[in-house]
Amino acid sequence: MEKKDLAIIGAGIAGIASGIYARRAGLTFELFEKKTVGGQLGFVGALDNYIGIVPGATGFELVSSLNETLKKMDIPPRHEDVKKIAPGTGKITVHTEAGEYIFGAVIIASGATWRTLGVAGEAEFLGKGVSYCAVCDGFFFKNKDVCVIGGGNTAVEEALYLSRLCNKVYLIHRRDRLRALDYLQKELTETKNIEVCLESELTQIKGDAFVEEVTARKKDGTVFRFSVNGVFIAIGMEPATGFFRDVVACDEHGFIISDEEMSTSQKGIFSCGDCRRRPLRQLITAAGEGAVAAMSAYRYLKGNYISS
Ligand code: NAP
Repeated sequence: MEKKDLAIIGAGIAGIASGIYARRAGLTFELFEKKTVGGQLGFVGALDNYIGIVPGATGFELVSSLNETLKKMDIPPRHEDVKKIAPGTGKITVHTEAGEYIFGAVIIASGATWRTLGVAGEAEFLGKGVSYCAVCDGFFFKNKDVCVIGGGNTAVEEALYLSRLCNKVYLIHRRDRLRALDYLQKELTETKNIEVCLESELTQIKGDAFVEEVTARKKDGTVFRFSVNGVFIAIGMEPATGFFRDVVACDEHGFIISDEEMSTSQKGIFSCGDCRRRPLRQLITAAGEGAVAAMSAYRYLKGNYISS
């Protein structure tokens, strides 16, 4: 089997940045992506904090331009699900559902997925009123009443997005304050059809064929109900690190621990983007980390890695 220099696992912003830098460095490599190029980006409404694009561009537009970039740079993503990586002496074997590949180094850029609440009705009504993405599904709730769960930037952005489509939006958050950025909170308080319900936990989602009602409990024990057709859950991310956790050191939440050169605990394996522990989960940091990971892999492969 032909050995290539590098496997990049995940074609989100981080993995694509790695691919671009690996191509420029002249490495032989594969970019594995089990789903679609761009990862979570396809679900983002308006982008206003990524340098070089006009504020307001959609995630979908950026995904189109990423696909174009991959084509121009001759980086065809290999649409295979990586099932296992096995480090050996001087090589790392990558197993996918389609076969086995040998590489000198690996970059894990597998991203993260939405966290679930685990309340009654959440799984049952998924796609029947329960959603994790307002931009994807908001349209189905035009002029209806919905609720959003969470108190971070995503929850507030989702509530604001839905307020422009829906009749009424309840933002239900478990604590006495939101953790979203000030400018988002200001916009929230200025939006008339959003009602913020603090110190409240969602306990049940009910309905017949589709969601009709949610039950929440206040900190003082009061139970209350809302008639809603949509429940948008925005309580953060789970790293898509599954079996990698047996290979590289991760924190208690499963995010991969890697240093400023994106090196993990396993020689020759690097990680970047949302799957790694980091202080700012943004496109801009993912892109930067992807570039660093590729250059660190390059130095490692050439035998002059700066940490060695
Ligand atoms: P996040 O910042 O981790 O916030 C998650 C929210 O969900 C928190 O308010 C948390 O409550 C709540 N939560 C977590 N588990 C819960 C549970 N089991 N039950 C009820 N509530 C629960 O996640 P995020 O908002 O998705 O943001 C992820 C990252 O992306 C962050 O770094 C964020 O800054 C970034 N982001 C940035 C932008 C932007 O800059 N425009 C937009 C979106 C996301 P507590 O507050 O009580 O912990």
